[in-house]
Amino acid sequence: MSKIAVIGSGTAGCFASLRSLRLTNSEIDWYYDSKIPTAPVGEGTTMTPLDALRKLDDWTWREVEEIGGTCKQGISKKNWGKSGKRFLHSFPAGGVGMHFDAGRFQNFMFDRLSKDKRVVTIDANLKNPEELDADYIIDCSGNHWRDNEPDVKVTDIPVNRALVVQCDPSTFRESYTMSDAMPYGWCFVIPLRERIAVGYVHSKDFGDIEERKVELEDYIRELNLHPISETRTIDFDNYYRTKNFGRVSYLGNSSAFLEPLEATATTTLMNGLQSQRHVMSGNYIEEFANVSYVKEIENVISMICLHYLSGSVYDTPFWKHAQYLALKRYSSIDFLKSECYPLIQSALYGDLHNTDIAGTWSTYSYMQNIEGLGLKQRLQEIFQTSGIMASFGD
Ligand SMILES: Cc1cc2nc3c(=O)[nH]c(=O)nc-3n(C[C@H](O)[C@H](O)[C@H](O)COP(=O)(O)OP(=O)(O)OC[C@H]3O[C@@H](n4cnc5c(N)ncnc54)[C@H](O)[C@@H]3O)c2cc1C
Repeated sequence: MSKIAVIGSGTAGCFASLRSLRLTNSEIDWYYDSKIPTAPVGEGTTMTPLDALRKLDDWTWREVEEIGGTCKQGISKKNWGKSGKRFLHSFPAGGVGMHFDAGRFQNFMFDRLSKDKRVVTIDANLKNPEELDADYIIDCSGNHWRDNEPDVKVTDIPVNRALVVQCDPSTFRESYTMSDAMPYGWCFVIPLRERIAVGYVHSKDFGDIEERKVELEDYIRELNLHPISETRTIDFDNYYRTKNFGRVSYLGNSSAFLEPLEATATTTLMNGLQSQRHVMSGNYIEEFANVSYVKEIENVISMICLHYLSGSVYDTPFWKHAQYLALKRYSSIDFLKSECYPLIQSALYGDLHNTDIAGTWSTYSYMQNIEGLGLKQRLQEIFQTSGIMASFGD
């Protein structure tokens, strides 16, 4: 019988073990290092992960409740663009995602999957996964690099730190994640069953952390929420790896990390796991899987930057910088060749017949965001100018 080794028991390792168990007949050696804790942040999804849990593990709302989760219908956004109006980026009717307690999800999946006789769990610190006795290895070891750091540092995204605090859920009921622009970034509100996770994603390169803490406190007060935990500070880099697939495949944070606007990490993970399976079964050559994955990551970066392009109701040095980076991306000739450009064009001109997907988004998703962010005219002007530049280039 063939063998798959999964490294890591975080969210990525749990999904990798689940898919490997349900979609192959292989034995699974599941490694983790109990001295290296998982990163139990990342508590909003698109529709894809919940759909996978339903299909692969018979999930109902009971399981979602058991991990402290709630139904997510989309994202509600405010203070982006100049109007400051709240707007929705909703999932299509009939489709839902979830908000989930990442720590509880990991414990739940670890308990559940480790009971299967094809799964062996091993607490060990691995130095070189290549040497493992396994046919395929899925490295979900997070950002604990050995000598194999990802090769691309993403410079278009202007944020690199989050302040996260948990609040009492009794005064707040919502089925949307909230993502509201703030003077130096944006805040998320994720309504879970037993707590509300609130985070201020911002740049540590502008101003003082104490000022950000005060802005976060004011925001929490305006929502009539009450903190029940200390505020945690999480520094992060935005990066990705261009070679992810082979006998050893990298997924989760060991492959890529992008700031959490639009909550795409678990979706990128699911799509990556699908590519890994295609590579394993010989349907995809490694190069095709690598190129497709990088295109997906670039689509996510573009969707994130679309928000920064719109600016916000705040006129601060952060927003000037963020808008400058986004404008540079959107006016480049490379952007005109990117996978999401035709969908954005369809969204701009109301053509819902374009049924392609870029990243995880349909034309309708782009339409909701472009209209809500107030970017229709601005994007038309930008593309007109870059189109003229491109024709000079030819
Ligand atoms: C502020 C913030 C908000 C976020 N919000 C969202 C969101 O809303 N939605 C979303 O999808 N994502 C979100 N994310 C992203 C989310 O954090 C990641 O998707 C998730 O944490 C993936 O982690 P992981 O499983 O790759 O790695 P980790 O959780 O870091 O797990 C690593 C595992 O590898 C093991 N390990 C490490 N090194 C070794 C070794 N040498 N040998 C053996 N085992 C080893 C560890 O023991 C551990 O089990 C957010 C991130 C941040 C910072």
